[in-house]
Amino acid sequence: MAEKLVPVVCPWCSVGCRFYIVSVNGYPKKIEFDYEHDTRNHGKLCPKGVSSFQYLRHPDRLKKPLKRVGERGEGKFVEISWEEAIREIAEKLKEIREKYGPEALAFLGSERCSIEENYVLQKLARALGTNNLDYVCRMCQSTAVAGKGMLLGHPGLTNPFEDILKAKVIVLWGYNPAATNPVFFGQYIEKAILDNNATLIVVDPRKTKTAKYADIHLQPYPGTDLAIALAMLNVIITEELYDKDFVAERVEGLEELAKTVEKYTPEWAEKVSGVPAELIRKAAIIFATAGTAALLTNEGVNQHANGTRTVMALTEMMVLCGYFGKEGVMSGAIPGAHNGMGAGLMGVEPDALPGKFPLHAEEHRRRIEEVWGFKIPEKPGITYVEMIDAILEGKLKALYVMGTNPAKSLPNLKKVEEAFKNIEFLVVQDIFLTETARYADIVLPAAAWFEKDGTAVSFERRVQRSFKAADAPGDAKPDWEIIVMLAKELGLGEYFNYSDVDDILREINRTIPFLTGATPERLKKNLKGCMTPCPDESTETPRLFVQGFLTPNGKAQLIPVEYKEPGEVPDEDYPFWLTNYRFVGQFHTGTMSHRSKSLSKRWPEEYIEINENDAKRLGIKDGDLVKVETRRAALVLKAKVTPHIREGVVAVPWHWNFNYLTTDVLDEYAKMPELKTAACRISKVEG
Ligand code: SF4
Repeated sequence: MAEKLVPVVCPWCSVGCRFYIVSVNGYPKKIEFDYEHDTRNHGKLCPKGVSSFQYLRHPDRLKKPLKRVGERGEGKFVEISWEEAIREIAEKLKEIREKYGPEALAFLGSERCSIEENYVLQKLARALGTNNLDYVCRMCQSTAVAGKGMLLGHPGLTNPFEDILKAKVIVLWGYNPAATNPVFFGQYIEKAILDNNATLIVVDPRKTKTAKYADIHLQPYPGTDLAIALAMLNVIITEELYDKDFVAERVEGLEELAKTVEKYTPEWAEKVSGVPAELIRKAAIIFATAGTAALLTNEGVNQHANGTRTVMALTEMMVLCGYFGKEGVMSGAIPGAHNGMGAGLMGVEPDALPGKFPLHAEEHRRRIEEVWGFKIPEKPGITYVEMIDAILEGKLKALYVMGTNPAKSLPNLKKVEEAFKNIEFLVVQDIFLTETARYADIVLPAAAWFEKDGTAVSFERRVQRSFKAADAPGDAKPDWEIIVMLAKELGLGEYFNYSDVDDILREINRTIPFLTGATPERLKKNLKGCMTPCPDESTETPRLFVQGFLTPNGKAQLIPVEYKEPGEVPDEDYPFWLTNYRFVGQFHTGTMSHRSKSLSKRWPEEYIEINENDAKRLGIKDGDLVKVETRRAALVLKAKVTPHIREGVVAVPWHWNFNYLTTDVLDEYAKMPELKTAACRISKVEG
């Protein structure tokens, strides 16, 4: 019996924990902790990491290519060969492109796939003549990327994890790391609070596990965070708490910003957000006078139709206080999945090239065209949510989906289902028959993360290699191999001449200058990887903005924003604020976690959290069935009556059916849909 210890990167969240899979003759037997190497997780794992091999041999795994024989959504398929599947897909894509033009095609990449796989997917889309490309970051971090990009020139986490241990104040805004990034929370944030006495400020409508550690907990109505951020800016500027030397030397735009936030007093913000003005003022003073601070955000800030504005205001707080370019500070927005950052760096976006260089930047297009050998289409594509409208309008005819599940992750799901019932051609490659795959014409069985070699980038900007630890079941193949097969069938083989992921990574090294040093040799030798930018093999960048910001003139830009409401707010008919949250033991749309035995046993179902006073008023008791209804749909859920959510707000975990309730109103900068709040009404289901 050949037992092997194979080093892997965790396939769930973006902390980048490392461990081993114990593999016996290609079969994944169990996981083994890695206490020997210098890993970011120090050998620790959360419940998801510990269970991360369980879904690999689930009986639902896709093992053969499938062709639809029933109605779309019915889930009726017959098995076909790889040759037949790839031939049919290639013929149909060519036919649609010839008949309607390349803009009738669109591709979705995946934060669950490696950087190499996302790279070849976007290259294929562009070789076919379209920039209709996106991935789930649109619904996760796009507002943070847009906001920080405009102000600082780079959206990434600024400092290595250790630096938070030296922060005097930690602000976790719309971010519950005890549930979403438990190892980062336990190994870094909790130590900073308990061992080093950092002051913790939490902004969250729910009293989360993280908020239980807080010195100050601000509980706004969902999506009104911008009001609090503007009021904190008001306090920092009017009380002259900002770092005057830093601002004079490295910042532009204070005067305009000061004029804009003059009217946004804490008293005004109290009326909008429901958070007492005195608490806002106190939080602003503690934050600005700390000397060192970390401010980390997550979906509670990002997933709103005013998300970019909120990110900008929060980043401006950090800029004004000079919390950049040194130890003991940290600014960042945390991607949800293990390669959320990496997929973005590969240019799986309608307006960005590999390296996130803007599509309109001719010098970068030309440079990449030289490596690729074909012309990159110049017209920007459409974003994730816009693709659904384009399908319904008859403009988008074919969608190719790699490792993502829009029939569950997009807002306003009834509309999404309608689109998928009417699309001309849908291909899904995934490890399970997802909700999206049930609508597909052709389904392709993909290898899971531990069944292939590949590279991921954690939220620390750390580029790490993961190794193949198990054989894929049946005929399932790595996503990159499937894309290369398809490219060859499409007659594009000369541009996709790769024999393994190392070949692809070497091309990435040539195409993206700040990843030139992340070579296959370096990543295989050094399991800790390297922090991008790494322009050569001996370089990495632990701290951003030490010399200057990455804007054209090297200065941070303070761009004032006015207050804007989230995408939907309560009214007479729908008087409650609805929001969502995540379980520590479930992940995104549940494709993998619902099929992990220990996770689905411990976190088996959704329910609705209702404040105890609201519940009393409506005659709802713990465990009662409750109808929660928005303008788009209704769900019936069990009530969980609790004091840990503020009055007027109800919350549902999002891993099941939450997105039937949400609205697809978009953020004007990033095209992020309003995923985090909606107006709803609730009533007890009698009988
Ligand atoms: S914290 Fe994230 S990366 Fe680490 S074990 Fe848990 S899910 Fe995996």
